[in-house]
Amino acid sequence: MEEPPWNDWVLDALFAPTCVACRRRLGPAREAAVCRQCWNAIRIVRPPWCDRCGEPLRSWRTLAEVNGQCARCLAQPPRYDQARAFGLYEGALRQIVRALKYRGHQSLGAPLGGLMRQAGWDLLSQAEAVVPVPLHPWRRLRRGFNQADELARRLGLPVWRPLRRWSLGAPQAGLRGEHRRRNVRHAYTVSYAGTSAFSKRPRRVVLIDDVMTTGATLDACGGALRDAGVEWVGALTAARASTPIGASTAAAPRPRPPRTRRPWTPHR
Ligand SMILES: [Zn+2]
Ligand SMILES: [Zn+2]
Repeated sequence: MEEPPWNDWVLDALFAPTCVACRRRLGPAREAAVCRQCWNAIRIVRPPWCDRCGEPLRSWRTLAEVNGQCARCLAQPPRYDQARAFGLYEGALRQIVRALKYRGHQSLGAPLGGLMRQAGWDLLSQAEAVVPVPLHPWRRLRRGFNQADELARRLGLPVWRPLRRWSLGAPQAGLRGEHRRRNVRHAYTVSYAGTSAFSKRPRRVVLIDDVMTTGATLDACGGALRDAGVEWVGALTAARASTPIGASTAAAPRPRPPRTRRPWTPHR
């Protein structure tokens, strides 16, 4: 049975409902807690993209030059097979995802899941189950729900939950690049306790999460699933970081910020 999005009812009852993205009063043209204009304003991820990680590429020519995969994937192949996302993590979609995740708007899971289902049909049609990226039990307790699970339940495939996050670590949102990778590399394990609804363990699955930033979390989860014998791991997120990196620059080191001199202070 569907869990009632009680958080939304409470929020609606206490405050005049406003759009979670633009904060304007919600009229009749609304879906969940978002106005029609904001849904329409989302920038959808479109091809050409890296066949592996789904990174938007500058042009079809770039795609041809790199043989379908971006330089980053060629240099360090991720431990998932293919990743795709619905929209760019910016503007309205960023607000919507944050409202789902941090502000208790569970009712956003249904419309977002519907959009992910369209964006990811190619991956979903190849899989036997979807696997939500888990939260650490403490974080799950504090939030009351796992946003990845809310999305996974809307994708039309059985939901398999073999992953455990056992080290709390720093929240990924506050970390960058290689730190994100190190923070989660060994954070996920596979446990079959509580997955007995599956008589046969799925061999082809799609990982589900709300946002893909550097891909470190999906990489760690993909690694854990592969180590446990899963043959093919897709990854589908509602949003992905909105910094399309051309294949030519993807593997280049980030330019260092210019060194700023300390202002000279005479009395120190
Ligand atoms: Zn709006
Ligand atoms: Zn790539």
